[in-house]
Amino acid sequence: MHKYVYLFTEGNANMRELLGGKGANLSEMTNIGMPVPQGFTITTEACTQYYEDGRTINDEIMGQIMEYVEKMEQINGKKFGDLTNPLLVSVRSGARASMPGMMDTILNLGLNDDVVAAMIKANPDPKFERFVYDSYRRFIQMFSDVVMEVGKKYFEQLIDKMKERKGVVYDVDLTAADLKELAEQFKAEYKNQIGSDFPSDPKVQLYEAIRAVFRSWDNPRANVYRRDNDIPYSWGTAVNVMPMVFGNLNDNSGTGVAFTRDPGTGEKKLMGEFLTNAQGEDVVAGVRTPMPIDQMAEKFPEAYKQFLDVCDKLETHYRDMQDMEFTVENGKLYMLQCRNGKRTAQAALKIACDLVDEGMRTEQEAVAMIEPRNLDTLLHPQFDAAALKAATPIGKGLGASPGAACGKAVFSAEDAESWKARGEKVILVRLETSPEDITGMKAAQGVLTVRGGMTSHAAVVARGMGICCVSGCGEIVMDEENKKFTLGGKEFREGDFISLDGSTGNIYDGVIPTVDATIAGEFGRIMAWADKYRVLKVRTNADTPRDAQRARELGAEGIGLCRTEHMFFEADRIAAFREMICSDTVEEREAALNKILPYQQDDFEKLFDAMGKYPVTIRFLDPPLHEFVPTEEKDIEALAATQGKSVERVKAIIESLKEFNPMMGHRGCRLVVTYPEIAKMQTTAVIRAAINVQKRHPAWQLVPEIMIPLVGDTKELKYVKDTVVATADAEIAKAGVDLHYEVGTMIEIPRAALTADDIAKEAEFFCFGTNDLTQMTYGFSRDDAGKFLEAYYKAKIFENDPFARIDQDGVGRLMKMACELGRSVRPDMHIGICGEHGGDPTSVEFCHKLGLTYVSCSPFRVPIARLAAAQAAIKDGK
Ligand code: PEP
Ligand code: MG
Repeated sequence: MHKYVYLFTEGNANMRELLGGKGANLSEMTNIGMPVPQGFTITTEACTQYYEDGRTINDEIMGQIMEYVEKMEQINGKKFGDLTNPLLVSVRSGARASMPGMMDTILNLGLNDDVVAAMIKANPDPKFERFVYDSYRRFIQMFSDVVMEVGKKYFEQLIDKMKERKGVVYDVDLTAADLKELAEQFKAEYKNQIGSDFPSDPKVQLYEAIRAVFRSWDNPRANVYRRDNDIPYSWGTAVNVMPMVFGNLNDNSGTGVAFTRDPGTGEKKLMGEFLTNAQGEDVVAGVRTPMPIDQMAEKFPEAYKQFLDVCDKLETHYRDMQDMEFTVENGKLYMLQCRNGKRTAQAALKIACDLVDEGMRTEQEAVAMIEPRNLDTLLHPQFDAAALKAATPIGKGLGASPGAACGKAVFSAEDAESWKARGEKVILVRLETSPEDITGMKAAQGVLTVRGGMTSHAAVVARGMGICCVSGCGEIVMDEENKKFTLGGKEFREGDFISLDGSTGNIYDGVIPTVDATIAGEFGRIMAWADKYRVLKVRTNADTPRDAQRARELGAEGIGLCRTEHMFFEADRIAAFREMICSDTVEEREAALNKILPYQQDDFEKLFDAMGKYPVTIRFLDPPLHEFVPTEEKDIEALAATQGKSVERVKAIIESLKEFNPMMGHRGCRLVVTYPEIAKMQTTAVIRAAINVQKRHPAWQLVPEIMIPLVGDTKELKYVKDTVVATADAEIAKAGVDLHYEVGTMIEIPRAALTADDIAKEAEFFCFGTNDLTQMTYGFSRDDAGKFLEAYYKAKIFENDPFARIDQDGVGRLMKMACELGRSVRPDMHIGICGEHGGDPTSVEFCHKLGLTYVSCSPFRVPIARLAAAQAAIKDGK
């Protein structure tokens, strides 16, 4: 028989997969002699089985649960429904990874009219009577809400009515008689809503409660949390059934939560809150103001002393900061929960360093303790934590570029600039963004778009610039023309304040104050340890000297991707770029290219300067043309004037450039196959820049890396490479210098991965463009997938966005194949990744396993990638 239920005495801390975090720790605390009310844990496997059986608890599992109810009754000397010694329990969820507040909890289960009457009869103290009725009405309310999904509001309305009738403001001012009457009203409301009587049999109550906890694993809140935190759906949740202890029994009782170190700063001191005569939820609900934990010393000296001892023991035992829930019943301490406490990034760094200094953890363990994603918050301005907690989001998009932003809504790049010029903070709200918006994006605190995924223009550019971006919020009803939009039932007009959380994708009405990010000294220490243990190199995606400089400061070891088309977003440059695109003849195109050349050379010199001895990969032009052609009348007129053409002629050219699938259109190396002069110009700029910088810094030994995008065929690569090599060699010969350079390719078309051995004959290095590789492997448009991926999450087809996290089974398999094929021809070739996945911790781990040379990501994700690379190496035992 398969075992689905464990007493707390049967488990231990290593069984979190089976017992969930809460269950495993309750067992562990029991094992090390802590005062834990003795109950049992129903395993995560039972949850999985519940889903496999079509959301029912099968007889075998139910049989085991009932067997363990009996064991629990014996251990505690109390019985369900008993009139002398009734057993009341809490039923709580507990997944492998903690998911605070995501799933369900039911307290005081086991109460019914008879038990209530018997309890009061045995202890006719009016205060006790009040306690019993209070517990009863809470139970009916919680059971109805959580288990039967009858809205809370019906019960709250009844409480409000009662308070009004009695002329009191707070729940605590209601008497035993009031609460008794409320309990009756609640039961009537239950019957009214559900159509049957409130279940009085504790075993039925328990069965329903366990089912509700299993069901809550699949609630929308939990599903979103899992996606954000990389928790697989397949894990399931365990259920913990534990005898109640009552902090609301009398004034010699109470309940509290505490952390062994400050979860905000990491400081080593006990932090917590405590309430006398209260039940767990009261501490968090804010009905009464809890007192600081140290005041417990006066109220409950014995229990407090014991609690301090427990804290010490738990920290030493788990070698990490603990978050604990406890209750004092009649002066006696009970531990209800402990877990490694959630903490801010700042606190995480300090705690990890302190634990190393205290001899509790090794450097590797300290590195492994930090959640890479949390570093985000150290690198961008952040919301004031308390204000954020108090705010309710009005909508949610993709957390496309981290950071906190707050400002007045504006609807065009021009407005963003002019509002900023007069000292306003703005959020740029667009249907989607295009290169015209760049200056507006720069002027804005953050960007909000209705369309576009994690690799949409807005997202990529915003991440590169380090500004907050929430993209793809399809709930927005946009009216760009009239400068307004509707979200969450409210209309927002130009100038209305909104706030964006670029990490969670949450959108808020009004102002949420931000505070500047600070980088504590521990940050450097942890990063130095990470660098010591990682194998993967970390480069950056940078298109401007400023980005390159910033990335260097954040520890980048080179540029893995310079998207040269991004160097033309500035107003004065985009004109020349458009001339090039809209040329009719080679001469016209060369004239435009000649205008571009000095810009390019100058930019490349600055990039080489910023990177010093570190490598720089310059990716040749890859503009999906639709992103660059002018759309505004005035731009079209300007272009016509420059080229001496009629507006009609320019419009006709623009028309002729329209493509049905621009992402699969005339872009990447295909542009060079049709217009080799583009590659000639770019090669000239790269080589001249390298020669100049090399002259200024002979020690650097520059080896510029020229990367050809969108290659699918080795002959295609060779064709382009021949132009590059001829141009480069001629430049080098003309300068009479010695300069080595490399020509490599992106692997971003499935065919390139499939024929990587052929391609490696021409390519001196590979770099995976996993944005396009994902797009073309799945056949999902990277700009449109956001619109339907939500349905995929709902249907559990996907657990996360394949454009954010590498699809290891498909795209990953192509990558593996390409690595093996490539290295079979060119064993020493360096292979990197520069798609957006290069900054995603899970994908970084995968890249480590593949044996890539480096990952490359936007500047602000460099520290995240460094840490994730170290964690992958440490996990791997290297
Ligand atoms: C990619 O496709 O992954 C890539 C890095 O190139 P881009 O995003 O510029 O298409
Ligand atoms: Mg690409």
